Amino acid sequence: MNRNLHDPFNDARTGRRAILKALATAAVFVLGLGSCSSATVSGTGPAQTAKNIIILFADGVAPVQWDFGRYSSKTLRQMPFATTDVVFREGVLGLLSTSPHGPYVTDSAAAASAMSTGHKVVNGAVSITPDGKSARTAMQAAKAAGKRIGMVTTATVYDATPAAFSINAKSRRDSQVLVDLFLALEPDVLLGGGAEYFLPVGMPGGKRKDGKDVIAAFRAKGHQVARNTVELKAATGARLLGLFSDGDLDFEVDRDPAREPSTAEMAAAALKALSQQSPNGFVLLVENENTDTASHANDAASLMRALWALDDAVKVALEFQRRHPDTLVIVTGDHETGGFSPTYALKDLSTLSSKNRFYAGDEQLRMLERITMSFGMVKEKLGRKPSGEVLDKLLAEHFPGFRLDADLRELVLGQKALERNHAYVPQNALGRMVARQTGYYWGTGGHTPEPVAVGAIGPGAELFRGYQDNTDFGKHLHRLIRGR
Ligand SMILES: [Zn+2]
Repeated sequence: MNRNLHDPFNDARTGRRAILKALATAAVFVLGLGSCSSATVSGTGPAQTAKNIIILFADGVAPVQWDFGRYSSKTLRQMPFATTDVVFREGVLGLLSTSPHGPYVTDSAAAASAMSTGHKVVNGAVSITPDGKSARTAMQAAKAAGKRIGMVTTATVYDATPAAFSINAKSRRDSQVLVDLFLALEPDVLLGGGAEYFLPVGMPGGKRKDGKDVIAAFRAKGHQVARNTVELKAATGARLLGLFSDGDLDFEVDRDPAREPSTAEMAAAALKALSQQSPNGFVLLVENENTDTASHANDAASLMRALWALDDAVKVALEFQRRHPDTLVIVTGDHETGGFSPTYALKDLSTLSSKNRFYAGDEQLRMLERITMSFGMVKEKLGRKPSGEVLDKLLAEHFPGFRLDADLRELVLGQKALERNHAYVPQNALGRMVARQTGYYWGTGGHTPEPVAVGAIGPGAELFRGYQDNTDFGKHLHRLIRGR
């Protein structure tokens, strides 16, 4: 073990430690099991040993987004939203403050590092503390405890969240180094995008400068390799590498289901692989990154579908838990993105009369439902020199019922930012177009410090109750992984 690795419990508050000790004692008393790793009592009772831990992670998602997922799923899909309706309602619900080392507002790497290690780091750092030390990540701890480990994401597999949960790096930006560190860690399951930094220049999509083929290296370590949905579904092995895109996976609304699996399909494949040969259980992280990307873009329609996609994976996890009650299911996020603000607004600026006001509701939600392209894809289609003709065609075809006001049209065609804190061009201007007619407004194109929700159901869930810090989440996770 690296001598530099921090133990997040050395600086745990003694009060919390005493409470946890009491809870652990209570669990032993109730179960009569000591430290046995096969506790079968689920629910919201005292801390118990969880053999398996599944973390469902929606990047950029805080309570306002979760509630939007619930409302839209019920209204448009006539489907319950498992995150709010099962995990939050029947499990334990808590909130986490998210500030990194330094400023008030966090990035994804710092937030995930805190949740993975129990330590604050600076924005951009991947589980490296401000004094330059590598903090032990949740996945490193899980490996040390003899558990199998897996990561699933709609981003590149070495993106900020899966990276901070697994490895240590000074910057989240050096993709080739991050991939090397993943190979050294040897996760049993790794599914998502980012093939470009697994393959050398010269191979299709390859960007590595050292000539290494890391897909072949994973294969040599016993991993089955899947490059599309069919191959993923056919995979039967206990170790699995799935890379379904050179970069990030597509938004739900743009996704080709034959090429790229859904978050739920990836979660199911990961559970199938990880539950094999796992006497000590596993830790699985399933992330939807599109919730964050859509919120940066102020793209409410894409956010809605990304939330549903993550929630479908929550349902897969809950079904696994039903068959394996010694499994803890956690649903959370790292920070809020976009200052998402469904609200009421004037229909136009002709009069301030309340009669000229509309409220975001079902009718407006149905307008979102009719959108068939993400703002990111609009940007791609517009290219480097956007033309009015192409823009009008895209809007007519994929944004029925929406009108682009002259001020916003000028921003889109002139490739100008909407505001200093709305610098995703042209996405944020398109977001304002949608907001003006639906009331689904946004306060920023960046992150906000709104506390994130954490819902937990199953053995150990009780640890996550109440208002805590994201470093507390990391400390609890390490405690659960160690099983004491
Ligand atoms: Zn973000």
